[in-house]
Amino acid sequence: MNLVNDNKINICYLCGKELVGKIDKDHVPPKQFYANDLRRLHNPNLFTLPTHKPCNQTYQGDEDYFVNSIAPLAMDSYSGRYKWKDIIRFSGRPKSKKLVKMIHDEFQPNLSKLLLPPGKIIKKFDGDRVTRIIWKITRGLFFKEKNLFLPEDKPRDFKFFSVGEKPPEYLNYVLASESKGDYPGVFDYKYVELEELNFFNVWLFLLWDRIIIMTVFHNPLCECNVCKLKY
Ligand SMILES: [Zn+2]
Ligand SMILES: [Zn+2]
Repeated sequence: MNLVNDNKINICYLCGKELVGKIDKDHVPPKQFYANDLRRLHNPNLFTLPTHKPCNQTYQGDEDYFVNSIAPLAMDSYSGRYKWKDIIRFSGRPKSKKLVKMIHDEFQPNLSKLLLPPGKIIKKFDGDRVTRIIWKITRGLFFKEKNLFLPEDKPRDFKFFSVGEKPPEYLNYVLASESKGDYPGVFDYKYVELEELNFFNVWLFLLWDRIIIMTVFHNPLCECNVCKLKY
């Protein structure tokens, strides 16, 4: 397996192997982050990476879950409002029924009003499915930025911030770095790589202008003891 991709389009960023056979143009982040009506209104030029079709297909169900489960938390932002319309449309389709029922059950009206402001909703979600998609996006953007394959089993960690929660001060350094998203109102990201700390990477994502998610990992070329462990 080649970690360094000399000619960007030669390998699939999902499996690291040479691109042969059926090829997909995979949107990074997923195309469905952009609401249908927004795409029609603004005609955005969305970034894609080539992947093997079968590699990409394994993510479809989790991407559907991710968007329909997470985006409703951002329904008061400009891009979130448009996405909400898609979700309503999606939930009307017979084949979406099972997924929508599951997501519906994850939303719980807050019963302990003493602890949280009135109207606050508690949302559970399937951490494995959600982090699988965040990790896929991280790997795709890392590939775009660094031209390096980031293996699926690389040790990493995630943190989700509640809507409105201010990230802690130690992240100010990352927050002060350049905004990298092409359409930051829908999806934005920032990252730093700390050479002095085993090329430690801290990536922050902003989804639909409301939801902040952090991913941390070491550069794939790092061979420290942590990186020798498989995730
Ligand atoms: Zn592949
Ligand atoms: Zn390491």
